[in-house]
Amino acid sequence: MKPFDSFYKRTGRFDTFKEFNATELYCPRCKRAVPVRERLLLVLPEGDEYEYLCVFCSTSVGMKIDKHDKPVTIITS
Ligand SMILES: [Zn+2]
Repeated sequence: MKPFDSFYKRTGRFDTFKEFNATELYCPRCKRAVPVRERLLLVLPEGDEYEYLCVFCSTSVGMKIDKHDKPVTIITS
């Protein structure tokens, strides 16, 4: 399923797409920069790990860790 196909046909404007996905990464399968979807992979103590997937072919094109901005708590017992 390609949910964005109808969107392209309706608007005919690729540029509009950037308003929905600010991040574009190079996709080795599409051989071009593509808009990406974020998928939460892991919730780690130090942050949430996300995977970036190409919106066209769902190939993984990148990763990031969203570090929690909490101050470090030192537990003393
Ligand atoms: Zn792709």
